[in-house]
Amino acid sequence: MDWVDLHLHTTASDGVLTPSGIVDYAKEKGLKAIAVTDHDTIDGNGEALDEGEKLGLEVIPGVEISAQFDLGSMHILGYFVDIGNRILNEKLSLLQETRAQRNPRMVQKLRELGVEITYDEVEHASGGGQVGRPHFAQVLLQKGYVNTVQEAFDRYLGKGAPAYVDKFRFDPKEAIRLIREAQGIPVLAHPFTLHILSAIQLKALLNELIELGLIGIEVYYPEHTEDQISLYESLAEKHRLLVTGGSDYHGIEADKAKIGIGWRDMRLSYSMVEAMKAALKVCF
Ligand SMILES: [Zn+2]
Ligand SMILES: [Zn+2]
Repeated sequence: MDWVDLHLHTTASDGVLTPSGIVDYAKEKGLKAIAVTDHDTIDGNGEALDEGEKLGLEVIPGVEISAQFDLGSMHILGYFVDIGNRILNEKLSLLQETRAQRNPRMVQKLRELGVEITYDEVEHASGGGQVGRPHFAQVLLQKGYVNTVQEAFDRYLGKGAPAYVDKFRFDPKEAIRLIREAQGIPVLAHPFTLHILSAIQLKALLNELIELGLIGIEVYYPEHTEDQISLYESLAEKHRLLVTGGSDYHGIEADKAKIGIGWRDMRLSYSMVEAMKAALKVCF
């Protein structure tokens, strides 16, 4: 049997392995095809495609775009995107720039509120890693502006608090449109993170997303329960959606998800890739 893994992260986003490293690893594990689906960037795909060609492993260029959704988190996967597409590249770099401005803007807001804080201090608290609100809280705590981390969030940093700056995200319509624009297949990732509990609500949301151009749903995912899998399978059938799956492997030792197999023995057939290729011929 030919196995695939259609949801992987590399150092281009928050993964540990480089794009070529993940291709080497997938080859070692005997996979036939993989998709590189980094968060909000397609930058890892070029290197992965080159390595795939070298090793004879099929690499599907992909992306995972975070979309604005109030209930939970909505991620839209894009498969077979044209990584040379100008609009996709421009929009994703704009997104990165806007994100990069978030932390300095939060520093500015805090200073306007009379808190003496510098960006250097926050960066220092992060230990050189990605800067986030917990690091702001740490500095506020150290400097005695608050007594607990919770207080830092309540008074300054939490959603709706005076120093809060929203993380910029595309709305679902724009995320789907961007992927289609780049001749890619938009797929709703791990539906359980939407935090929609009723099948009726999920159905209604799927209908909306399909109208916006959604073509597939990620049914197989390590954290999906048996019940969720059968619900998503039946929804996919009813709405004639492509079915995909992947481990969401990030290369982190402590993570339970392993490449190709997820938590236990998830096995994804190459027929998923064939179905996508057939859909591409019809859609574009
Ligand atoms: Zn995701
Ligand atoms: Zn992911």
